[in-house]
Amino acid sequence: MRIVFVNIYMVETGNKEWVLIDAGLYGSAGKIKRMAESLFGPNNPPKAIILTHGHFDHVGALKELIRTWKVQVYAHFFEMPYLTGHSSYPPPDPSVGGGLMSTLSFLYPKKPIQLGGYVHALSKEGHLPHMPDWISIHTPGHAPGHISLFRGRDKLLIAGDAFVTTKQESATSVMLQKKEICGPPKYFTTNWVSAALSVKKLRDLKPEIVASGHGQPMSGEELHAGLDRLVNNFQELAIPKHGRYVNEPARTNKYGLQYVPAERTSKILLFTVFAISAVVMFNIVRKAKR
Ligand SMILES: [Zn+2]
Ligand SMILES: [Zn+2]
Repeated sequence: MRIVFVNIYMVETGNKEWVLIDAGLYGSAGKIKRMAESLFGPNNPPKAIILTHGHFDHVGALKELIRTWKVQVYAHFFEMPYLTGHSSYPPPDPSVGGGLMSTLSFLYPKKPIQLGGYVHALSKEGHLPHMPDWISIHTPGHAPGHISLFRGRDKLLIAGDAFVTTKQESATSVMLQKKEICGPPKYFTTNWVSAALSVKKLRDLKPEIVASGHGQPMSGEELHAGLDRLVNNFQELAIPKHGRYVNEPARTNKYGLQYVPAERTSKILLFTVFAISAVVMFNIVRKAKR
């Protein structure tokens, strides 16, 4: 289900048991609960909630859902600092271009949420609780502990934001849900080398169906061709021409954010102001000398 501009997924794991993948935007808990009830019947909460990552648009309804369902939440070990109140995410970069969703990204929340005892780290082996047919794949770059979920039987991939199926930087593309295999949303991606490796890792699984965090599901030839094109031209198609994290990634570890590169836009602005002031001063001094 799409919630304004982000997707959530409900995976039936057999016998009317199910797992929720991601938790949408703040205020969407009612919509999520109604969908769950229509698919799986009343008083049938999910066995678990699994997060592809903890960005604000993937965890918004989490607190309310936990209150109602008393359900356990799972995420990658490296995502834990942002889900337990210990660290903010690296700041989004509104200078990456591509449209209004990027420009407005300075407004997007980056503060951690605090899920307390309800959140647990996934096993390192890729096992997913209550999802025996699936494996989790660490796909960092967009977020340090980003995961994608893969079911080998039918090669179904829930990609999260490792790559997406609409141009998420552009409000028009998002509104029309225009289908296109794109790299991870640029404004929130803080390690482009990891992001490139993650997309390649997912392409090499040769998925048949992809459901990503943003955009419509895609399958078959349209998917294969789009994914090959993205992997083979990642630099031109996915990495922004300029931006805070293009030449240097944000550095994170198990404690959360450790270092962010300086904001490029303000440096450019400072340099421009400095250059203009220098020219003006030079002219004033020259006129004064005459
Ligand atoms: Zn994200
Ligand atoms: Zn997202």
